Amino acid sequence: MGTQYHEGGERMYRIGIDLGGTNIAAGLVDDGMRILDTVSVKTNAPRPVEDLLEDIVELVSRLTERNGLTPDYIASVGVGVPCTANPDNGHLEDADNLGYADTPFLTLLQAKLPVPVYFENDANAAAWGEYLTGGYDGDSFLMVTIGTGIGGGIILGGKLWHGINGAAAEFGHMTLSLDGVPCNCGRRGCFEALASATALIRQAREAMSANPESLLWQLCGGDTGRIEAKTVFDGAAAGDPTALGLLDRYTTFLAEGIANLINIFQPAVVCIGGGVSRAGDALLLPLRKKTGRRIYSRNSRRNTHICLAKLDNNAGILGAALLGAGKRSVT
Ligand SMILES: [Zn+2]
Repeated sequence: MGTQYHEGGERMYRIGIDLGGTNIAAGLVDDGMRILDTVSVKTNAPRPVEDLLEDIVELVSRLTERNGLTPDYIASVGVGVPCTANPDNGHLEDADNLGYADTPFLTLLQAKLPVPVYFENDANAAAWGEYLTGGYDGDSFLMVTIGTGIGGGIILGGKLWHGINGAAAEFGHMTLSLDGVPCNCGRRGCFEALASATALIRQAREAMSANPESLLWQLCGGDTGRIEAKTVFDGAAAGDPTALGLLDRYTTFLAEGIANLINIFQPAVVCIGGGVSRAGDALLLPLRKKTGRRIYSRNSRRNTHICLAKLDNNAGILGAALLGAGKRSVT
């Protein structure tokens, strides 16, 4: 879509939009891949797509104008969407959370903006942002995002891999246990049913009911509704045996899933993002050790580097902004 535009020297800014179920956040990004300014509005889904697109156009105008820019300064606008972004026809698919079944989102938005427009599934966009800005070696990169569920992105040959329908990289729905707990995808024992933050919280509640002496009870003030993934890490840091046991089992589930991914892709980098990655070395160190023992290539001289994501809350905006950029075209 960018062929009719020239990337002149003045087009040194990009705008990234993180279209979420709750908020639409937009950021102005410079050619050093820094976010200079952000604005946001409520998503207010469900509502007609034309209304939502008008809000996106308004966010772009606001960002441009209040930074003293005109559209001539903007190289591209990218949108990360919470659903499948079909790269062939520019449609949003499976956008139940926005109330859209199959919508020609990209064509409609492009008609409203005088700059090239790109879109991408939000997990893919975040993976792209991390890959471009994180200073990683190699051109193969997997991002595994661990939060409410487990999602991710696949970069092969320096490009995002979409699959034939834009729905690739659903790492969370890889089966780890045929007889495991039910997953909301309809199968059992999926990676995300065992190793997401939601899964860890469920496992913590189960372990607490069997261990009334656990420190976890104190850490949540006696209310299991207040348990977060962080509570388990805090309990383990304090030496609570129940929390240590939970964390040991949890990092084993994670290592099993990540070893499966490494066996398939043998990427240069597996990057762990999402809320759970904030646990830092308490997560990373056991994960590296356990994954290293499980991968088929464990005796190879060269193996995948496992690390934690460097971008945090800004990954969505930055990744979306950089959808129009390649690794080499941005300095
Ligand atoms: Zn599943």
